[in-house]
Amino acid sequence: MKNGICPKCSGKNILVCEASDSKKESGNADYEKLGMLGKKVYTTRYVCCECGYTERYFEDKNLEILQKRYNKA
Ligand SMILES: [Zn+2]
Repeated sequence: MKNGICPKCSGKNILVCEASDSKKESGNADYEKLGMLGKKVYTTRYVCCECGYTERYFEDKNLEILQKRYNKA
């Protein structure tokens, strides 16, 4: 979906909702609250405007932290 194509309907009308600094400050950014981290972990959301499908991604800097805290599947 990061390539601008919906994996469900192949639509190309994809919106990106990034967790910008201003959104974080105003409390309007997407996040997950992961228990072991005990803090907000921000995500970027992709939304398909054809079918409504959405995907969320953690920021790269948080992937390192998550790998240290959680076991591999
Ligand atoms: Zn779609």
